[in-house]
Amino acid sequence: MENKPTSSNFIRNIIINDLKEGTYDKIVTRFPPEPNGYLHIGHAKSIVLNFDLADEFNGKTHLRFDDTNPLKEDKEYVEAIKEDVKWLGYNWDGLYFASDYFEEMYNRAVLLIKKGLAYVDDLSAEEIRQTRGTLTEPGKESPYRNRSVEENLDLFERMRKGEFKDGEKVLRAKIDMASPNLNLRDPVLYRIAHATHHNTGDKWCIYPMYDFAHPLEDAIEGVTHSLCTLEFEDHRPLYDWVIRECEMENKPKQIEFAKLNLSNTVMGKRYIKQLVEEKIVDGWDDPRLATISGLRRRGYTPESIRNFIREIGVAKSNSIVDSQMLDHFLREDLKLKAPRTMAVLRPLKVVITNYPEDQVEMLEAENNPENPEMGTRLIPFSREIYIEQDDFMENPPKKYHRLYPGNEVRLKHAYFIKCHDVIKDENGNIVEIHCTYDPETKSGTGFTGRKVKGTIHWVEAKHAIPAEFRLYEPLVLEDQEGEEESFLDRINPNSLEILQGFIEPNMENVKPQDKFQFFRHGYFNVDPKYTTDEKKVFNRIAPLKSSFKLEDQK
Ligand code: ATP
Ligand code: MG
Repeated sequence: MENKPTSSNFIRNIIINDLKEGTYDKIVTRFPPEPNGYLHIGHAKSIVLNFDLADEFNGKTHLRFDDTNPLKEDKEYVEAIKEDVKWLGYNWDGLYFASDYFEEMYNRAVLLIKKGLAYVDDLSAEEIRQTRGTLTEPGKESPYRNRSVEENLDLFERMRKGEFKDGEKVLRAKIDMASPNLNLRDPVLYRIAHATHHNTGDKWCIYPMYDFAHPLEDAIEGVTHSLCTLEFEDHRPLYDWVIRECEMENKPKQIEFAKLNLSNTVMGKRYIKQLVEEKIVDGWDDPRLATISGLRRRGYTPESIRNFIREIGVAKSNSIVDSQMLDHFLREDLKLKAPRTMAVLRPLKVVITNYPEDQVEMLEAENNPENPEMGTRLIPFSREIYIEQDDFMENPPKKYHRLYPGNEVRLKHAYFIKCHDVIKDENGNIVEIHCTYDPETKSGTGFTGRKVKGTIHWVEAKHAIPAEFRLYEPLVLEDQEGEEESFLDRINPNSLEILQGFIEPNMENVKPQDKFQFFRHGYFNVDPKYTTDEKKVFNRIAPLKSSFKLEDQK
């Protein structure tokens, strides 16, 4: 992978300082997804941050599945997450599962009980919530709070053995029901869930809560810098409490950063899952989703995603990033790599009436004028071609420089043509147009006789390969000012447009995930899900231009 200098950020500064002062002598970070869905571009921010920082300081990054909730997790997600991290270009230094530490976590909980710092509570989840107090009022102590150590040890063991039903009992930390930090008001450490876990099967029926499990996972693995998103800032005192009171040898440091939010984009896994389950989209890899698998299928490259994440950087306050910024990095990445070819998305037949019937000539075309190393190809030209419907107008407005009766345009890589007839069906719909060409104007011959204002693209009709094009718009529309509508009420009915058109014959052998720049239309990716031997399907990744300017973001 290319070695981009990591831009300075506050987390990097903390690491530099920790290394200087000898707080840690080797950096270990981790990316800790819960396998309860597919990764999205928000996760990519965490991945790039963790792996890049460890890389820069010769440290290590673990991929750890935070699989402590069997009710929502699945092996399918574990595999998909591994694939996505690899595809983004990162190799983890160790693959870990929180569920492998269940025994150790249990023992640490027993230690807390023995120290008088945890107790088994019979209150229901609802009662616990009700007695928790508010920001201005202290909570109420549970009547079970002062059980003896012996009774707690006995009950906790019986919880593990499966003697109680879900919700009947929990293990809580005994901290302070009057703490101004609600997270310290005797948080729940363990709950009962009689459910089969994808890794540990039916071995356990009690599962640790995130706030207890996460610090232990970090400490067990020797993670030094545990990076998480801002909503965990208030949990940090509890994180430190768990590390301290469980007497963990390693002392990781939790540092919070702002989540990535993208305009017009559904982010959280929970919401994406809803779109998938309600079949509003075509699976987790729908090209309109910001899942890593959706972005991959749409055609975004790992480089463009990494560079986008690096550019936005990390900060301590939440903001919304313009989703067009990702397109900017996609164009930057593909500009010199993607072959430039011609595709007609909405075909209109043109007959060149003075071109000899049955003649086909081969014209030379550059594959990428900005990168001559990509060479040239030959494209056929004959009496019948397709152009875009909107490159012709019978009654054009002023300043329309494309084809109209009497006007001459340049066909990219070919000749000037001039329209002389419009053929319509009995309903008045245009079926084809008739033009003449001027042999003198052949591209590449240095013709300077006269100039035309418009250049349009085309494909030769007999040899053209039919293709399907899928054009995308944002899946959700922007929230109306003042209206707090659910994203499900803001689904854009026009987020997908499917067109049937043509591509050049030399694209016969394209493979899924091949990328092209179609002249004037933008960057396209060969769709891996719907492309077959008979039918090629192209996803538009991004148009060629947008109003977005990187400079405006600074
Ligand atoms: P979601 O709400 O989408 O399920 P999550 O935080 O619950 O996200 P996890 O699988 O628990 O998902 O997260 C793995 C890591 O990715 C965590 O460290 C989390 O902080 C980080 N992460 C998740 N969403 C974002 C985001 N939008 N921006 C940056 N980091 C994120
Ligand atoms: Mg989560």
